[in-house]
Amino acid sequence: IKKLAVLTSGGDAPGMNVAIRAVVRTAIYHGIEVVGVMEGYAGMIRNDFRPMKSRDVSDIISKGGTILKTARCEEFRTKEGRAIAYENAKAQGIDALVVIGGDGSFQGAKLFSEEFDIPTVGIPGTIDNDLFGTDSTIGYDTALNTVVSAVDKIRDTATSHKRVFFVEVMGRDAGFLALRSGIGSGAEAILIPEVQTPYDKLKQFLNDKTKGHKSSSIVIVAEGAEGMKEGGVFKLAERVNEDYPELDIRVSVLGHMQRGGAPSAFDRVLASQLGEAAVVALMDDQQSVMVGIQNNKISHVPFNQAIKNKKNVNLDLLKLAEILSI
Ligand code: ADP
Repeated sequence: IKKLAVLTSGGDAPGMNVAIRAVVRTAIYHGIEVVGVMEGYAGMIRNDFRPMKSRDVSDIISKGGTILKTARCEEFRTKEGRAIAYENAKAQGIDALVVIGGDGSFQGAKLFSEEFDIPTVGIPGTIDNDLFGTDSTIGYDTALNTVVSAVDKIRDTATSHKRVFFVEVMGRDAGFLALRSGIGSGAEAILIPEVQTPYDKLKQFLNDKTKGHKSSSIVIVAEGAEGMKEGGVFKLAERVNEDYPELDIRVSVLGHMQRGGAPSAFDRVLASQLGEAAVVALMDDQQSVMVGIQNNKISHVPFNQAIKNKKNVNLDLLKLAEILSI
């Protein structure tokens, strides 16, 4: 390959910049020219390509977000849209593509690389960690640390007032972030989309904690947990409060802060390794694969599997939370 394009797409995640840096510098190291595409697939369709040199990625290793910006792009979902993207890329002399993003971005990348002769490799970047074929996705560890430090602060005020806090964390379809941040912050209960927690069990559980003279309780609730569709975390807390008016219940929605901040050391190393692996994979004539790390080894997972197969959360952690919060 002579000229490679790199883009970030879909939801942003801390560490995407680190991956961009690694892709750009690995390519240059091997004598490959690099261009950055602005705002994901939208930039391909709009013809927004920028040459990237080594110095263009200076000082971004510690910055959250993505210097290439990211976007959702409806047009790329259509064959016509992807054809425009292809024509523009071809006119630039681009003969390989690296897509940094999540599940949706890889669906687009899969179609694009099947339809046209531009080999494409994906790098998993999402705080949700919900991609099969890699132990961790870029941004997940940083988001975990962000949630744990936020909950530590909530715990201080909760304990001072003997309060129960429902803390909503990101995760519409996957409970990885909720589960591990729950263990890491000593949560009393964790509600995730993968497991049905009957309302009665939650009530009973909170009642037990109060009887056990706990001075505070933290319930971590993933956005997509059961019972969240009907009015969200506020409604859930309200329901519990109606049944237990003696409990002093508060709600905290962590929101977008979970996506920001300096990438953790773990994510920096992961993104550096995956950025290099993506370029090497393209040089080895691989395509339509996501690069990942499993048991400390680089893996190449076909887009199909990365998208379709479900990565399972470690349900032992739910039991662990129960044991450790008595
Ligand atoms: P993420 O990559 O974080 O999962 P999205 O699901 O929003 O984010 O996907 C990002 C972009 O990828 C979409 O805006 C769209 O341009 C493209 N995309 C997603 N799904 C498809 C699909 N089925 N076909 C073609 N392109 C898609």
